[in-house]
Amino acid sequence: MKQVYLDYAATTPQSIEVAKAMKPYSGKFYGNASSLHQFGQRAHEAVEMSRQNIAKFFNCFAAEVFFTGSATEADNLAILGVIKNSKYHVVTSIIEHPAVLEPIKHLEKLGEIEATYLSVDKNGLITPEQVEKAIRPNTVLISIMYANNEIGVIQPIAEIGKTIKAVNQKIIFHTDAVQAANYLDCDVQKLGVDLLTLSGHKIYGPKGVGALYVKKGVAIEPIMFGGHQEQGLRPGTENVAAIAGLGEAIEQIKNEKRKMKNLEKLRDRLADGILKNIPKTSLNGSRDHRLPNNANISFAGVEGESILMALDQKGIAVSTGSACASGSLEPSHVLMALGLSHQQAHGSIRFSLGKYTTQEEINYTLKVLPDIIKRLRAISPLK
Ligand code: PLP
Repeated sequence: MKQVYLDYAATTPQSIEVAKAMKPYSGKFYGNASSLHQFGQRAHEAVEMSRQNIAKFFNCFAAEVFFTGSATEADNLAILGVIKNSKYHVVTSIIEHPAVLEPIKHLEKLGEIEATYLSVDKNGLITPEQVEKAIRPNTVLISIMYANNEIGVIQPIAEIGKTIKAVNQKIIFHTDAVQAANYLDCDVQKLGVDLLTLSGHKIYGPKGVGALYVKKGVAIEPIMFGGHQEQGLRPGTENVAAIAGLGEAIEQIKNEKRKMKNLEKLRDRLADGILKNIPKTSLNGSRDHRLPNNANISFAGVEGESILMALDQKGIAVSTGSACASGSLEPSHVLMALGLSHQQAHGSIRFSLGKYTTQEEINYTLKVLPDIIKRLRAISPLK
């Protein structure tokens, strides 16, 4: 059977270049990066080379890049690490990834902070004015994602950054750039962010590695203890192979950016093909302010899970809501934030394309989907 992977927002396959960069450190160069002998120095060099690559990508100093065990950990560190006083106020949006929302809710439950959750418009967008209005004299942290994992909507981070700093230079601005990194400029100077999160496995790198940019001078404390690694901010022996892979994945992004127009064309072909040929379908989230690889579509009168399973039987992999939310009966908090009904949210599918997606795969998907929807609608109790 044909295998078509359209779930790049959940995870990406590792590129050949990444696998090659990792191999020596999974094998013969097994030293601990903290050891003083040559085995250790070899590993240390790999970690520092990766840090340099990422620093170049962020346009920051290498000492401002901290490796973590995932983007979830980097998001948690960004939030829990800067909150040190019960009088603090945090601003975020209701469409953030759970890796941002949950630590904030946790602190709120403990009574350690007050939080404001900004709503989005029907396109999934937040405005700088909304952020400005939410700022209080005791606001210490603002966390707004660069691009959303479910609908691919891109927020105006640079404008929001400018607005925040015009109100109060001391407010720490964090952005989760996990889904954006493949496609958007992650120059932290241009974005005006103090903290930025990156994940390895969304950029054709390894799973289980992330990075956090921390601007020099930002008051942040570790959330784990027991080692001196990463300047004491993230203790624990570094995963050298994964870090080397992350550095190579970042290096490869430069080569891929030129191919973005082609990806966008394929995505448009898929989205327009569905919207035109299948009745009662609609695109969720802004069309203009959107990652080039994302099409999130609602199919009226059908359960998303049924579509996912039927597509899987044809060898096509997609997602309902986010990978983390699938398996839960709760409708996606992102789709609900756009104003969709429970039924519309439940009938949504996220198609996310990537650098290995071909026109033939899109044609195949467009060929099999109308019959699947027709068949499911005929037997669906939802009308
Ligand atoms: N933030 C966003 C926007 C994501 O899409 C994801 C993964 O789905 C994460 C954070 C978590 O990344 P990781 O799997 O590296 O913990």
